[in-house]
Amino acid sequence: LKDRAVIITGASRGIGRAIAVEFGRAGAPVLVNYFRDELGAAKTCCLVEEAGGRAFAFRADVRRKSDVDEMIGACIGKYGNVRVLVNNAGIDRSRPLALTSPEEFMETVDVNLKGAFLCTAAAAKEMMRKRAGHIINIASMLSVKGRPGGAAYGASKAGLLALTKSAARELGRFNVRVNAVMPGFHRTGINPAVTDAVESEVVRSNCLGRLSTPGEAGRFIVFLESCTDISGQVFNLDSRIF
Ligand code: NAP
Repeated sequence: LKDRAVIITGASRGIGRAIAVEFGRAGAPVLVNYFRDELGAAKTCCLVEEAGGRAFAFRADVRRKSDVDEMIGACIGKYGNVRVLVNNAGIDRSRPLALTSPEEFMETVDVNLKGAFLCTAAAAKEMMRKRAGHIINIASMLSVKGRPGGAAYGASKAGLLALTKSAARELGRFNVRVNAVMPGFHRTGINPAVTDAVESEVVRSNCLGRLSTPGEAGRFIVFLESCTDISGQVFNLDSRIF
């Protein structure tokens, strides 16, 4: 992947970092996007380079079009193209439905769905021009299953699946692919309040009796990049059956 530039949003930690490292292992030049965690993004860049890739960190709030446009421009300026975009940045502010304010609901939708839309629209222009590109949206099983307290998060991720399918239909004739993955359950910054009991329950709901790892999600996404005939699809990356 050494000439295919990869942008990963929200790669300062967690699943985004794991995806970045796997693209690094494949030799890709990576733009590590972050919003608040500059140190975390710098650490991700080091890990990508140790794995064999190139990397630089770029601060952009995915909710802001001007930030997103600058990020796409920076990637083209540095690496000459944007061949892969991973829309990974996400937040989850779980609250009971009746206690969720419209502002809280929209905050989640703005990062998880509008952010992915803005990044997709900006990257697609470059990808369509070059007749090559792949956009991977990080969805969630909760978009299909739902969860008490997860209305905003589930709705935003369900929207991401619809965005994936419409964009795949629209961009396919430009040889731009769009897919989504549901990366499995991982204890990361997004779910700090998860207890051991909840984690055990998730383990039990996996038919393999174990959790998947962020590294495995990263390896799958790099593999998907090589599957040039696949677009418009949604992949679940653990052993929960629903
Ligand atoms: P995480 O550790 O909390 O990481 C979230 C990342 O998103 C951070 O790098 C954060 O950047 C970034 N971010 C948040 N708001 C942003 C904004 N406005 N602009 C740019 N970046 C922003 O969470 P994670 O578990 O790795 O989640 C990554 C993705 O996987 C999310 O889309 C999540 O919904 C999805 N997912 C996670 C799980 C799970 O169990 N963990 C399961 C299914 C799906 P800063 O730290 O720099 O602010």
